[in-house]
Amino acid sequence: MNLEQLDKTYVLPTYARDYTNFVRGEGATLFDEKGRDYIDFASGIAVNSIGHNHPKLVEAICNQARNIIHISNLQVIEPQAKLAEQICKQSNYDGAVFFANSGAEANEGAIKIARKYGETKFEKKRYKVLTLEHSFHGRTITTVKATGQESFHPTHFSPYPDGFAYVESIEKIYESIDEVTVAVMIELVQGEGGIQPFEPEAVQKLAAFLKEQGILLIVDEVQTGIYRTGEMLACNLYGIEPDIVTMAKGLGGGVPIGAVMTKHKDIFAPGDHGSTFGGNYLSTSAGLAVLEVLQELYENGVLHETLIYFETKLKAIANHYNNLFEKEVGLGLMRGLRAKDNDTVAKIIKKSMAEGLIVLKAGRNTVRFLPALTITKAEIDEGFKRFEKALASI
Ligand SMILES: *Cc1c(COP(=O)(O)O)cnc(C)c1O
Repeated sequence: MNLEQLDKTYVLPTYARDYTNFVRGEGATLFDEKGRDYIDFASGIAVNSIGHNHPKLVEAICNQARNIIHISNLQVIEPQAKLAEQICKQSNYDGAVFFANSGAEANEGAIKIARKYGETKFEKKRYKVLTLEHSFHGRTITTVKATGQESFHPTHFSPYPDGFAYVESIEKIYESIDEVTVAVMIELVQGEGGIQPFEPEAVQKLAAFLKEQGILLIVDEVQTGIYRTGEMLACNLYGIEPDIVTMAKGLGGGVPIGAVMTKHKDIFAPGDHGSTFGGNYLSTSAGLAVLEVLQELYENGVLHETLIYFETKLKAIANHYNNLFEKEVGLGLMRGLRAKDNDTVAKIIKKSMAEGLIVLKAGRNTVRFLPALTITKAEIDEGFKRFEKALASI
């Protein structure tokens, strides 16, 4: 059997897959089995935050694997404690962290904190979590229900957990709060929903209002977090300090990890929550290496330079190809081109791949760009050269 047949025979068909067989990566460049190179503007959906084969990450993983990969959470885990410290310090957040293995799991943790807060801090239990339309919060039965897109909760998976309601816009959250509402969960830039950033003023006003009401603000930074928007958290960029923040994608540089951070350190007690793998030696050592690299990139100004360089190039393309694109959207290195026509996005992704460039789709009509935060100017130039070739053929 060739690889495609093997995959189709033994792997459940939950993805519409491309069958290019990648065997090696270096920075923001991938190589397939034939040795052909591809510029990676996707980073495994914002995961390979410091690119492929980063020497510091590889060294951290190899060194850790030689010592201890895993012990249970019944013992203290040094890199876990250190990573929690770095997450809090680099985001300037006075909180504590629980580690899980994915974004959805981090959000499950956030919802559990909110539910227990709702029981302990109010006379009559509050449990409802409001989320926004076009949001995305994960694929578990609870986080899929938290996702404000009806297409994500078809009846074949029902019944779904209660306690979620969807709101059309940030402005309409105020009128949607009732006597059982305990939390509002939002992304600051909707990722899967189409790279949709919210206005800082609207978010700040909401954060202040919720604080006054004692209702929790949960910010899902699974995609926006870990310097993706140019700051450690998008919350830093927006100037807000939510009650709960979740992270995952870019944190382990490709090693599975999720994190939920909260200032309400007294809500969880031993036994309330747990995870076999969450925060083990391997994933937290990887996370530490990633944060060390990114902090340096942030502090020496290279990250800022890169995102300005990327943004300038993307804006020029949006202008030049205004027959195809309505506008350029996004923040930092989480960006998109909103296509005028839904069908062109699929064509652009396919043609880009044929030219040796990986880009993604978001929402119905957005071409999404999530390059490694360590991407070089040469890789950006080459990537956009290939992108323009792909566009020219449409
Ligand atoms: C990707 C994503 C998730 C889900 O993360 P998984 O690791 O796939 O479970 C949740 N929220 C947001 C905003 C995401 O982008």
